[in-house]
Amino acid sequence: MNTIPPVFLSHGSPMLLLEPGATGAAWRRLAADLPRPRAILAVSAHWTTRVAAVSAAPRPATIHDFYGFPDSLYDLDYAAPGSTELAAQVAGLVPGIKVDALRGLDHGAWAPLSLMYPAADIPVIQLAVMPEADAAAHHELGRRLAPLAREGVLLLASGSLTHNLYEMIPDAPDDRALPHVAAFSDWFADMLGKGDAAALLDWEASAPYGRRAHPTPEHLLPLFVALGAAGDGARASAVHRGYQLGALAMDAYRFDPAA
Ligand code: ZN
Repeated sequence: MNTIPPVFLSHGSPMLLLEPGATGAAWRRLAADLPRPRAILAVSAHWTTRVAAVSAAPRPATIHDFYGFPDSLYDLDYAAPGSTELAAQVAGLVPGIKVDALRGLDHGAWAPLSLMYPAADIPVIQLAVMPEADAAAHHELGRRLAPLAREGVLLLASGSLTHNLYEMIPDAPDDRALPHVAAFSDWFADMLGKGDAAALLDWEASAPYGRRAHPTPEHLLPLFVALGAAGDGARASAVHRGYQLGALAMDAYRFDPAA
């Protein structure tokens, strides 16, 4: 069985499904480059809980958890099967995790997956993030899930490298961002390149403009799950770097485990 490197991507606005652009092209390339997974564990910024939770619906519904977008986006359906087997495996690795038999797939999961794996023929389950817990707790959660990567499971962490929706600039070109957005995402690129997990886990104090880039942390927390799942010495490589609406860094990384 192939080891699948954990991935973090910035899912951006749901409009990306109608206008995939360079970000969508990068996701498609990434999927083509990865070994084909036997199942996908999607860590989504759009499922937030107080304690760790995993979804176990055999046929997860497509949740259209966004408002004010064109009707055609609400007609999209991502009909991938779930996997009670993978949910049970996750429950075995994470003591005390809550298993949710009803939860469907939110757009943090199905939006990128519908571009990466449009056939929707790979089973998908979700893992929640816990905004009241810190980066280190999510890193530890990822470490517990590391064995799955060696068993052909893709851990797809979906959030946003920066996420201050109050600062979005309509019609901003994708190669332009507010200076603090660029500074924050460049700092992450630097620390990920160096493999400096200690600095990354201390992002709120160490990264420039930390709280301005993330007034709430839920869109960054998936990244730490991916980092933890890749294990010590993993090599992070940027799959895509760019911006959306001036305030969203759209960066995506794969974390190839140490040989
Ligand atoms: Zn989002």
